[in-house]
This record gives sequence, structure tokens and C-alpha cells, in this order.
Amino acid sequence: MPAKVVLASNNAGKIRELQALLASLDIEVVPQGALGIPDADETGSSFVENALIKARHAARCSGMPAIADDSGLEVDALGGAPGVYSARYAGPAASGGDNIGKLLRALEGVPAEHRAARFRCVMVLVRHAGDTEPVIAEGAWEGRIAEVSIGTGGFGYDPVFLVPDTGCSAAELPPEEKNRLSHRGLAVTSLASRLRELVLA
Ligand code: IMP
Repeated sequence: MPAKVVLASNNAGKIRELQALLASLDIEVVPQGALGIPDADETGSSFVENALIKARHAARCSGMPAIADDSGLEVDALGGAPGVYSARYAGPAASGGDNIGKLLRALEGVPAEHRAARFRCVMVLVRHAGDTEPVIAEGAWEGRIAEVSIGTGGFGYDPVFLVPDTGCSAAELPPEEKNRLSHRGLAVTSLASRLRELVLA
């Protein structure tokens, strides 16, 4: 029987990507929503703090090991914003489209060579809510912000994130290709071997 781990996210786009990324491990990933667990408040001021808050919350509510990721977009011309506030950049109930609109307005008139940005992801595993030795993995994906939205795939800022050497936005990449290159894919790869050791031990 595969080991079970709760995934501390109710974001459908992330759940889809993480389940695909973790499918090769003999681990069943159960989204917290399937157990009736609500989102934790993300009160931290760094990706690591927020990922730990989310993972501990899911582990406490489920009694199972939990994985959480916290991720966001850092834009150099905006001093690293929206960063940890990426999901609610345009307000607490902002849609992906609202956030993109605010970002493109903030970058109006900024030339291509100054539109560098990166997605960052911190992924953590806790074996239980009070785990004092959480496993922490990170990934970063460098790119540039487009002038307009391009493509319909992915989620969040994908339509305005230009992927180097491809001529595509992240929203135009096939899902497997995005998972191979992305901040989340890199963080999962780095977490995967520890995950197998710890959860299956
Ligand atoms: P979190 O759920 O607090 O980690 O919020 C992360 C936010 O960062 C998401 O809601 C998106 O706005 C943005 N983000 C993170 N990863 C991606 C990605 O792979 N593509 C597009 N936007 C992303």
C-alpha cells in the first residue's frame, strides 16, 4: 500500500502539478481539501515561514505527514515584488487576471532588458505537526515579464512569464515541459529522495 501524505494546498493548478510531479514515488498525495481541511492563514514574511505554517496546519488537522509549498514571483524592477504576496498582489480576493493586470501596469514603459523575474518555490515536508527537523527544498526559475498575456495554460502569472530559449510564455508550455523546468519541479526533485527515505522509513 502506498504511504499517504497530505498536500497543504487548495490551489487546483498547484495540486495538479504536484500530483504529476510526485506520481513516480510510491506515495499517495491527498489534497487537504479532500479531508475537509481549510487553508491556513499565510502570516509569514518569507516563503519558508509560510510553507512551514501551511504544512504544520495540514499535519495537525490530518494526523498525517504533510507537504506544503510556498511560491511566488520576484520582479527585479519592482524590488522583488510581488514575492510572498504574489497570490494577493491585487487584493485579498484577486484573480490571476487581476494580479497580471496590476503587474503589467506597474511595469508599463520598462524595457525588455529590465523585466527580469523569477519564480521561487520553497517546499517542505513535516512528518507531524511538531516536527523539529522539517525537510526544506528550494527551486528557482529565471525568466522575463512579457508586455501582454500570452497563452491559456498553467495558472497565476504563467501567461506573462517568458521562458528563456523557448520563445514561449509558461502558459504555452505543455504541462510536462513546465514541470521539468519550473521552480516547483526543481524543488520537488530535490525533496523527492528525502521524502522517500523519511515517509517510507
Ligand atoms: P502561494 O499559494 O501562497 O504559494 O501563492 C503562490 C502564488 O504565486 C500563486 O497564487 C501565483 O500567483 C504565483 N505562482 C506560484 N507559482 C506559480 C506558477 O508556477 N505559475 C504562475 N504563478 C505562480
